[in-house]
Amino acid sequence: MSVSGREVEKKKRTLTPINMAMETGTCNHLINVGFQVPEKVSRKPGQNATIVHVGQVEIGGSQIAVIAGPCAVESREQLFETAGSVNDGGAQILRGGAFKPRSSPYKFQGMGEDGLKLLREVKNITGLPFVTEVMDTRQVELVAEYADMIQIGSRNMQNYPLLKEAGNSRKPILLKRGMMATIEEFLLAAEYILNQGNDQVVLCERGIRTFETSTRNTLDLSAVPMLKSLTHLPVIIDPSHGTGLRWMVPPMAKAAVAVGADGLIIEVHYKPDEALCDGYQSLDLPQFNQLMTDLEKVAQAIGRSI
Ligand code: PEP
Ligand code: MN
Repeated sequence: MSVSGREVEKKKRTLTPINMAMETGTCNHLINVGFQVPEKVSRKPGQNATIVHVGQVEIGGSQIAVIAGPCAVESREQLFETAGSVNDGGAQILRGGAFKPRSSPYKFQGMGEDGLKLLREVKNITGLPFVTEVMDTRQVELVAEYADMIQIGSRNMQNYPLLKEAGNSRKPILLKRGMMATIEEFLLAAEYILNQGNDQVVLCERGIRTFETSTRNTLDLSAVPMLKSLTHLPVIIDPSHGTGLRWMVPPMAKAAVAVGADGLIIEVHYKPDEALCDGYQSLDLPQFNQLMTDLEKVAQAIGRSI
């Protein structure tokens, strides 16, 4: 085929209106996703991946970023013991919810600003930057004063005013996939944040609702190569909420790295059986350390580090 013939062919492909086919920068293959990838999140041919900076940590480069810590900040002792250990084990970012979206209004709702203060205190000791969740536009200013990264949880992925407000904060955003959201809806939610002029967005697959009941959610690992083909944004996996089962976290974390995830967010607790939130899916301290050792081998096998 002549050069111009090839260009015409290429144009035809890229202009297919509904079944948009796109060539990815890295693999140069064609994928047909059946929807238009939103403009700002879409990965143009040859475009570099976006690196998201959280303190000194980079998410989206060759090193896999591990975020670890308790589901919720519960006390000084709980946070300090857990953070110290995950830091020693090699986690680069601390997690911990101060405002918790609980299914039951009668369960622990988080420590609020006191939790943010503890996170800041432990950061000053360990050097670990931290990510914590916002649930409400009215919390964004406060949380942004403390946090290095703002988490928008699964239940709020389609809370558009919150996406805009968080985007406006200029903080890096950890956007979790809605439990009922398609990849298209997930990317559209991220587009809201990018539309505020903030491209520091990390996408997090955390399991979706299916007919399966043996696990808390169904961890959609196929979302990783799909998202990485469609968007320049980094993609991480949450095997804790993705499975809801402590023993399944290590194998799914390893699989996530093998499939190309740029990072992991893992719930870890110094006494998981006494946790006020999500203890049944939290690793204890030795389990997390062991997992980090094992992940190193998987990372190496695919030419990455951790
Ligand atoms: C969490 O990270 O603790 C959390 C509530 O996650 P998700 O929004 O994915 O349920
Ligand atoms: Mn949790």
